[in-house]
Amino acid sequence: MTTTLPETWPADFIRRMRGWLGADADAFFTALTKRDIGLRLNPTRGPLDELRARIPWETQPIPWCPEGVWLQEEAQAGAHLYHTLGVYYMQDPSAMAAAVLLDPRPDEWVLDLAAAPGGKTTHIAARMRGEGVLIANEVVRRRASVLAMNVERMGVTNALVVNETPERLAARWPGLFDAVLVDAPCSGEGTFSRDSQAIRDWSVDTVFGNARRQKQILDQTAPLVRCGGRLLYGTCTFAPEENEGVIAAFLDGHPDFEIVDLPQVPGLHPGCPEWVNAPDVLRRAGRFWPHTGPGHGHFYALLRRQGEPPNGLPERWTGSDVPGRVWSLYQKTAGEALVAPVSDRGLVLTKTDDLYVTSMDPKLWEGLHVLRPGWWVASLRHNKIWPDHALAMALRPEDVRDVVDLTQDDPRLASYLRGGFWSDLGPAGYVLITVDGFPVGWAKRGEGRLRSRYPVHLRG
Ligand code: SAM
Repeated sequence: MTTTLPETWPADFIRRMRGWLGADADAFFTALTKRDIGLRLNPTRGPLDELRARIPWETQPIPWCPEGVWLQEEAQAGAHLYHTLGVYYMQDPSAMAAAVLLDPRPDEWVLDLAAAPGGKTTHIAARMRGEGVLIANEVVRRRASVLAMNVERMGVTNALVVNETPERLAARWPGLFDAVLVDAPCSGEGTFSRDSQAIRDWSVDTVFGNARRQKQILDQTAPLVRCGGRLLYGTCTFAPEENEGVIAAFLDGHPDFEIVDLPQVPGLHPGCPEWVNAPDVLRRAGRFWPHTGPGHGHFYALLRRQGEPPNGLPERWTGSDVPGRVWSLYQKTAGEALVAPVSDRGLVLTKTDDLYVTSMDPKLWEGLHVLRPGWWVASLRHNKIWPDHALAMALRPEDVRDVVDLTQDDPRLASYLRGGFWSDLGPAGYVLITVDGFPVGWAKRGEGRLRSRYPVHLRG
């Protein structure tokens, strides 16, 4: 039986895939139209089994990602409050394999080179358990801002959000990273069921143009990988020119890199070097297919830079770069709100009078375009410290002295999210507002009122 295909799909795409997949082509095309959605649960919001029980939809596990679930039905998961609260990130199941295959560890230096909107970065951060150093870079400024918002929403504390070109990063940070992810811009064939622009943009010429750009990005990124470190390349397209072909060309030009076997996870199929006359070693690459599991498909290749790791690489920064007066103000305000004693370890005051906890020595990022040099904890305005929204989003209720927990249908919640206030006779000071125990943001109590400090740009 031949599947009826969407009329908008390019004939050349169908012809190419049918030629390569043969008997599997119909199952592939049918699966490519499916509209399942994936949710990646955020372990910083609670134990995974509890989170899974608390989300209001029937879900299925994702065989290769313990944090992931998928929903067969089209659910309004993006509009649910739990999305705003960073309880989950909506992500294609096959994209969830990136952090699993990269396997970042809490003590490592990790770079996500093409990170916006932040699906893989927020997953990597969760797997690093808030430790180590994570650079989330995005070359397009507008997209880097979205990345920063998602990093904040998911309560990430160990990431610097950077808006730079790969060349400028390589010039500043040669050999700095244990693990680098290049989730390359591609023709996005795996997104055809939900991205009509990807369909309109697709042509054989675009595929070849993408392959050229991907080779250039990899060439520019290679120097950032530490000897002994690993580089994971991924795309959400099936075109072999953008996958096995790009990696074959990269290995030809970079004898210091080798392709290594991907960790064996369920659902992963070998690369297809024969589709582009690439060397057989490209079987070590991996593909997730839409017709063999949940998700829309992805390609991955794991490379290792040969050689011994050099000595003398920088450590996670534990210094402090805050004037004494600002530190005293911060210590007082944050100390009154938080249960644990406040530390100045890693604390830095930026030129814009914002306070961040960073894991990277400020000298290392000076001069680069850094949107968020770490976890934004407070701002100094008019000689006062204002705790930041990003601080609230990375706290648990037990971290804060004064918490007001609301239910989703509490009218005070709607008022809070609009920036309003209500009567409250409790003690003066900062209060963490939570919903069902998940942080929503700060409020400030005083003069018989609890006033929302929910950021203006997020208000509904
Ligand atoms: N990793 C992201 C995630 O999981 O949410 C998705 C990344 S998307 C597939 C590819 C990204 O590469 C885009 O954000 C795009 O702006 C960026 N990009 C485009 N051209 C680039 C270049 N020449 N160098 C580096 N990144 C580039």
